[in-house]
Amino acid sequence: MLMTITIVGGGLAGATVATELRDSGYTEPIALFASEAHFPYERPPLSKGFLLGEKPLSSAYVHEPDWYAANNVDLHLTTPVVEIRPTDHVLETANGTQPFGQLVLATGASPRPLPMADHSGKEVVYLRTMDDSMKLKDRLANKPKVAIIGAGWIGLEVAAAARAADCEVTVFESAAKPLIGVLGPEIAQVFEDLHRAHGVDLRLDHETTQADLEDADLVVVGIGAIPATKLAKEAGLDIDNGVLVDAQLRTSHPDIYAIGDIANHDHPVLKRRIRVEHWDTAIEQAKVAAHNLLGKDEPYERFPYFFTDQYDLGMEYVGSVGPEGYDDLIIEGDLADKFRAYWLRQGKVVAAMHVNDWDATEVLRASIGNSPSAI
Ligand SMILES: Cc1cc2nc3c(=O)[nH]c(=O)nc-3n(C[C@H](O)[C@H](O)[C@H](O)COP(=O)(O)OP(=O)(O)OC[C@H]3O[C@@H](n4cnc5c(N)ncnc54)[C@H](O)[C@@H]3O)c2cc1C
Repeated sequence: MLMTITIVGGGLAGATVATELRDSGYTEPIALFASEAHFPYERPPLSKGFLLGEKPLSSAYVHEPDWYAANNVDLHLTTPVVEIRPTDHVLETANGTQPFGQLVLATGASPRPLPMADHSGKEVVYLRTMDDSMKLKDRLANKPKVAIIGAGWIGLEVAAAARAADCEVTVFESAAKPLIGVLGPEIAQVFEDLHRAHGVDLRLDHETTQADLEDADLVVVGIGAIPATKLAKEAGLDIDNGVLVDAQLRTSHPDIYAIGDIANHDHPVLKRRIRVEHWDTAIEQAKVAAHNLLGKDEPYERFPYFFTDQYDLGMEYVGSVGPEGYDDLIIEGDLADKFRAYWLRQGKVVAAMHVNDWDATEVLRASIGNSPSAI
């Protein structure tokens, strides 16, 4: 059997698979196909450190450019994979046909388009790539009036960066509070207060129309992302809100794994399917997939984790409230400054977060699944 492990998608998840394979002692060929021209990079700095001018773009790279050749990883930049034929164990790019032994799909997600904004006649930015971030950073330096559609993580981080650049900022959100779907009304209020205190004009419960954008010089759309499943679907893999994978991150084809933003995972501890669009999941699923590619049978059991930085607020969140919701919320500390919050269902913690309390991370992680008295 051909031993080449091929990775499709040169983002954080894809590059981490290659890293973990080499760290685990795998010496056979690895091929990594990436659509973008940039060496694999992580995205959080694109809406934070880099956008704020606090960190160079180079801080986002997963590895120094020479790491790939030094580790015998055959990296094909600017080479989108256009077709996968699982039965034949081959894939197609513009450069021809490539055989593979096992394959990892890590094609990520792309911003959900908003035709209303695209047809508004305004300059519109979606923030996903390094190129998007460089463009946005240049534009913010000219202090445009910024209209942001969507008060999710990206919309709010861009709002913070735009305020730091001294821009006038209006954020439009159809829900009653920013992030209410993830955090519930109590903690969502913290983010509403934070942005208002920093001078953001937050228009909540508001369906944005082109008339709202009339005064804006720049429109940023942040209304979520869509998993990049086209290749997997055309290859005949099972798809449903992402590529369906089992507990071990295997798709419906035994030699193909899917990880990161694209993977809809059968989580053995949460006991339901979950697709997570977070940095930590991209890294940790990549490690487990690498082990399984090498013959292990490791389930991915880690709870979702994410972080954000906005102005002087830093937070980390672990766990998942999920569709069943929560029936109690415990808050320790001061919501206006530094606190820990625990979401409970039937007496057990299902998710926990802290704001500006950096000693809390492991305590929060350990609290999931336990009763509050055990915290
Ligand atoms: C601006 C921004 C800020 C973020 N901040 C945070 C944060 O603070 N905290 C957090 O937890 N998460 C954050 N995230 C989310 C996090 O970055 C993602 O969860 C993570 O990037 C997922 O990694 P991935 O490798 O699965 O996908 P991606 O990073 O999207 O990488 C997939 C790559 O595959 C390539 N590709 C797609 N199709 C093909 C193909 N056919 N052939 C070859 N290549 C292909 C794409 O071009 C892309 O480069 C942020 C995301 C963005 C956009």
